[in-house]
Amino acid sequence: MKRVLVTGGAGSIGSYVCEVLIRRGHEVVALDNGPSLKVEHLFDTGRFKFVQDSVLIPEVVERLVDQCDTVIHLAAIADPKRYVNEPLNVLNVNLKGSLYLLDFCARQKKRFVFASTSEVLGKNPNVPWNEEADRLLGPPSINRWCYSTGKALIEHYCYAYGQQEDMPFVIMRFFNVYGPRCDDLGQGRVIPIFLEKLLRGQPLIVHGDGAQTRCFTFIEDATEAVVELALNNAALGLCFNIGSDRETSILELAKAMKKAGGFKNPVEFKPHLEVFGKSYEDIPRRIPDVSRIKQVIGWEATTSLEDGLKKTIDFYRQP
Ligand code: UDP
Repeated sequence: MKRVLVTGGAGSIGSYVCEVLIRRGHEVVALDNGPSLKVEHLFDTGRFKFVQDSVLIPEVVERLVDQCDTVIHLAAIADPKRYVNEPLNVLNVNLKGSLYLLDFCARQKKRFVFASTSEVLGKNPNVPWNEEADRLLGPPSINRWCYSTGKALIEHYCYAYGQQEDMPFVIMRFFNVYGPRCDDLGQGRVIPIFLEKLLRGQPLIVHGDGAQTRCFTFIEDATEAVVELALNNAALGLCFNIGSDRETSILELAKAMKKAGGFKNPVEFKPHLEVFGKSYEDIPRRIPDVSRIKQVIGWEATTSLEDGLKKTIDFYRQP
């Protein structure tokens, strides 16, 4: 049995990760500055503790790292609108919080399992991307790239602490994870935003021409990958893409969501500039090469987009 600290443990991916860890017999401490709503069903398992606090408070971080063997660091601000509108918060949470955790993990030789992102590769046109692919970003004057840069810097720190201080680590790069209870409706990423419009009978707003693509990864698949990577020694010292390799354009996504839920909403198009202003740039294609994760832990995404969307829509339709 492991004692695992999950930062962002009451959040989208975090709540699922806590659930699977508990199901597998581990003890879990979830650190989150948000409400406990998504993890309250774990309260009476006897192996779950919720600490409502911030990764930006070093004393809290030190105490909790001290109590565990492994840290799965998921706490972050991961919402493109917020990269543009509040870059300072995005940088502070994503960098400062991670640096406190890294420092204490390195000192205490605790395993640091870091939630990075496919966003670190930016707009590299050579898809699919393996974990060693080049990063291609726009200039720092474009706020969009602050999230990518912060996450990539923490990846550098993982390698540096691993090399110079023997800190055990694993890096995970997520590719557009979605699913039930992943976000509040209308917030964050494209799927909860579309879903809110669908449920309210409003038009879906596709940015640009809708030809930009993503690989949407169902939360339950992603969670299995996180837990396995966090606990399997074969993953140590490596970076892994966690994603489905099915490429879907945003226009196809809009149609797939309408079909999955039997919705008839119209689709409208709006230029990115009108939605986000000048400090945003879109990523034309984002596709993972998933051979490494398949080879090292035998994982691949198995939920089809259609099934995942149905489950997500059913969840949000519940009264
Ligand atoms: N998008 C869209 N309409 C929306 C929300 C998002 O067309 O209401 C597009 C967005 O411009 C991007 C893609 O969907 O091209 C994925 O955006 P998301 O915010 O989910 O995050 P990203 O994958 O860019 O990090």
